[in-house]
Amino acid sequence: FPEYAFIGRSNVGKSSLINMLTGKKGLAMTSQKPGKTLLINHFIINNNWFLVDLPGYGFAQRGKEGRQNIQRIIEDYILEREQLTNLFVLIDCRHEAQKIDLEFMEWLGENGVPFSIIFTKIDKISKGRLQENLKAYQEKLLETWEELPPILLSSSEKKDGREEILDYIDTINKSLKG
Ligand code: GDP
Repeated sequence: FPEYAFIGRSNVGKSSLINMLTGKKGLAMTSQKPGKTLLINHFIINNNWFLVDLPGYGFAQRGKEGRQNIQRIIEDYILEREQLTNLFVLIDCRHEAQKIDLEFMEWLGENGVPFSIIFTKIDKISKGRLQENLKAYQEKLLETWEELPPILLSSSEKKDGREEILDYIDTINKSLKG
């Protein structure tokens, strides 16, 4: 089965998004504590693809060694997992582009890993502000990328973006078969 992995810095809203997509509250636990998700978790969806929860990256408080171990687990999965079909990089829509996220995406590009961006927590800002932030983010990306990756929008709070993300994945799944 094809795998679709979700990754992002802690507190970006990954667990909430995964809960929304799997529709099974409690399977991926949300937490107030940054960096609580430690292992790679697989969720089978519609009996035809796996949603993969990757550990968050970029939390300094874990200390250097712990961070390197997690980094290695993430990198091994991303580079070596043949089933990995697309990676969703989660970005909090309120924040301006962060170096760690941009560098991570550049690394994906260098390694030929297909990815898309999900802007999370869109309920937290106005529509106008969201458009501004989207534009600013795209401009930032265009400093290094010739072609922009797709950017999907989500609010786990308002249950927005669920169908769009699931349809997006279904479309890729169909193209794999066809
Ligand atoms: P993770 O660390 O990336 O897994 O983030 P969580 O899913 O645990 O969310 C971190 C915090 O952001 C929690 O307090 C969530 O309730 C909150 N949160 C997550 N998604 C949303 C969202 O779409 N809208 C709002 N308003 N809050 C959110």
